[in-house]
Amino acid sequence: MAKYKAPRGTKDVLPDEIPEWRFVEETFRHVCSLYGYREIRTPAFEETELFVRTAGESSDIVTKQMYTFSDPGGESYTLRPEGTAPTVRAYIQHNLGYGMPLVKLFYIAPIFRYERPQAGRLRQHHQVGIEVLGSSDPAVDAEVVALGVDFLSSVGVSGYEIHINSVGCQNCRPAYRQALIGFLEPLKDGLCEDCKRRLKVNPLRILDCKEEICKALTASAPRILAYLCDECRVHFESVLSYLKTIGVELVVDSRLVRGLDYYTKTTFEFLHPSLGAQSAVLAGGRYDGLVEECGGKRTPGIGFGCGIERVLILRQHYNLRTDEGNIVDVFVCAVGESVRQHAFKLLKELRCAGVRADMDYLGRSLKAQMRFADRLGATYVVIIGDEELSNGVATLRAMRESKQQQVPLDKLVDYLRSLEERGS
Ligand SMILES: [Zn+2]
Ligand SMILES: [Zn+2]
Repeated sequence: MAKYKAPRGTKDVLPDEIPEWRFVEETFRHVCSLYGYREIRTPAFEETELFVRTAGESSDIVTKQMYTFSDPGGESYTLRPEGTAPTVRAYIQHNLGYGMPLVKLFYIAPIFRYERPQAGRLRQHHQVGIEVLGSSDPAVDAEVVALGVDFLSSVGVSGYEIHINSVGCQNCRPAYRQALIGFLEPLKDGLCEDCKRRLKVNPLRILDCKEEICKALTASAPRILAYLCDECRVHFESVLSYLKTIGVELVVDSRLVRGLDYYTKTTFEFLHPSLGAQSAVLAGGRYDGLVEECGGKRTPGIGFGCGIERVLILRQHYNLRTDEGNIVDVFVCAVGESVRQHAFKLLKELRCAGVRADMDYLGRSLKAQMRFADRLGATYVVIIGDEELSNGVATLRAMRESKQQQVPLDKLVDYLRSLEERGS
């Protein structure tokens, strides 16, 4: 039993798993570059106030999920519980919109939330995400969804449904909110405890509750789409029509309200049945009031976040796996203490020539070194002993063919590099 373990709800990503992670991250970077998005990296923690302000004091994130700490200087900080607010904070702080009316950003970052690990949720998970700041054009909403579609198809994930809705704006949402409260007030005793509280502070979230009892009670609740103002309705119809033009299939889902206060107009989730109750693999929406809320000029924005771990679960579901391949191409076996210096120098020259190479550091026998070379997947083993050294040669063994030959030591690096270049 190890004395120390990774904290509950966190996971180590082990070397065997890294190729999968890299593939997903690199694919995301590539798809983002096709769409003209640029990467941004923000600190792992921010002033607590930023998240309280943007997510809303009544949100689940703020009330029960944040990793908040005060540093020795007495400042209150919170580990990033979502990716949008830090990006927007950086956008304002560095005036990224200056001379650049439309800014498209992407990020790859760890997300920290105090979750229930028994429900299969992680307390540190990882997201790829995008944010577009500066345009309220419905075509941008469609582009954001389209980028999500292209990303998932590039990593081999299919079989999801895209649910889409509009949550209206500050002009039309209050009337809907009143109608929803009017509908739920007589039913409130039947709601779960969380929803009883939500009824006062944010009744829209009741539509998002995962409790069956709340789902049943809200089945015939008024639908927000019937309450949208003209601007929101036209915007939503236009988003749907752009997405139809490029062949993206959608499910209009009036229950989709998202968990954060700052969303306006379009909201969407990509739901995959094999993810169970936590079925969203990718989710996002428009947040036209957020930049102003964070102290910037009124600037429309929209984005999504996508859980890398969930993408990896889905890739497993489709039996997709990126192979690591071998660990090194060449293993240098030094036989005897006297040749170790020479072997060490050769190793350095091979690496400088771009050949992935390693040697024994455990004083093992030739036989044990060969076995180890095999485990590393080495294509070639270079054997140097006293006799080879005095003749100015090395024995080069091609592991797969079990063939060996003598190669002059001064030609060895070039020779191995040329073999590597031929892809043998
Ligand atoms: Zn509206
Ligand atoms: Zn509920």
